[in-house]
Amino acid sequence: MISTMMPSPDNIRDPHLRRNRKGMPLLPGGYGRSAYHVGKEPPYAVHGEGWRMWDDNGRELIDANGNFTTLIHGNAHPEIVEAAEQAIRTGASWGIPNLSEWDLAETMLDRLPGLDQIRFANSGTEAVMSAFRIARAVTGRDGIVMTKDGFHGTSDFALLASGPTKGVARSAESDVTLVPLGDIDELREVFQNNPTKYAAIILDLLPNKAGLLPLSKEFVEEARALATAHGALLIFDEVVSFRLGPNGLGGRMGVLPDLLTAGKVIGGGFAIGAIAGRQEYMSILDPWSPESISHSGTFSGNPVSMAAGVVALQLLTPAEIERLNSLGDNARAEANAVLNAHGWEMRGLGSLLRPFPLDARQLDGETQRRLWWAAYENGVVLSSANLAALSTPMGEQVVHDFTDRLVGAVIKTAEGAE
Ligand code: PMP
Repeated sequence: MISTMMPSPDNIRDPHLRRNRKGMPLLPGGYGRSAYHVGKEPPYAVHGEGWRMWDDNGRELIDANGNFTTLIHGNAHPEIVEAAEQAIRTGASWGIPNLSEWDLAETMLDRLPGLDQIRFANSGTEAVMSAFRIARAVTGRDGIVMTKDGFHGTSDFALLASGPTKGVARSAESDVTLVPLGDIDELREVFQNNPTKYAAIILDLLPNKAGLLPLSKEFVEEARALATAHGALLIFDEVVSFRLGPNGLGGRMGVLPDLLTAGKVIGGGFAIGAIAGRQEYMSILDPWSPESISHSGTFSGNPVSMAAGVVALQLLTPAEIERLNSLGDNARAEANAVLNAHGWEMRGLGSLLRPFPLDARQLDGETQRRLWWAAYENGVVLSSANLAALSTPMGEQVVHDFTDRLVGAVIKTAEGAE
């Protein structure tokens, strides 16, 4: 007979399946994402409102993590909630196109002069995977050039930016060529050695993993010139950096890619990714054409992410972006006036900030975890890599308070390291 008793922590027969710690052992390591790992059992989020969040210890926190830079309008922004609620009530996902997808396409392409078409996906990882596929299909080549220690999501090819890792198909390795960040000579040499190998160069214009310093305009312009000269596509991965300018960071630099990947902020806090590009390349996805390649996804372009994304981008006016970026610039200057004497600095650009030791090579995982906890004790939530992102509900006073608390945490971490 089939038992009708529901499993609960008390009636699961195998005692090892009982939970001794939160999330354990039902989730490997207790986590649903590796990026949650901060060394000790982390708090759980239970509520968010604007720039504030509360955890299950009842602690009120400044949310400078913002789901890894996604929540540019903070938690539960009323207009975004209303748009998403409305979409859910009307039908959360369908198997024929929806009008909100069209709206977000228009909103995005208005911000991306020079790019003509767009496809939506469910994450930045998916968007980058599709951009690679488009580049390969268009050029008939397999090679991808990336900067060393860039981050482009968790597909096999993207993970190779940090070198070979367990679980990544070895067959992918021969197709990926890494160039040290900002090394123009090496970039040139890569194309001199193999002028017809590469389908694309992909650049994250503000690589967090590689130190949160923007790529130089000269490097980006050289990538543009080499891609054009050798028939490869230039891809800007703006999954994180799109928030930094009305037309992304590439727009600020004045360089036009062939394809651009976006995610995070453009979905208003819901799952999203996007590949925008010039029509001559994007048309490879056009199913009317016998030459087309497929790009789908059950939840791609779902009306909830689309409707929320439209409102999020409407709220993210050029004036708001500028205000947020200058709040970030002030916070960096304020922090650096204190931190440099302690052997640390606040890096970043505009609304994205991250503390580093002056000699960034000293930064190891253990130090990052200590800093995460010191910030948490001071009432600030950072990403596990210590990245902080400002959000539009924040004003001068909140950002000053945030900076003060973060500086205190960095000093505590620096002193602990001596
Ligand atoms: N590209 C960049 C530059 C990223 O920083 C990330 C994730 N932080 C991704 C791609 C992958 O995005 P997602 O986590 O939505 O898959």
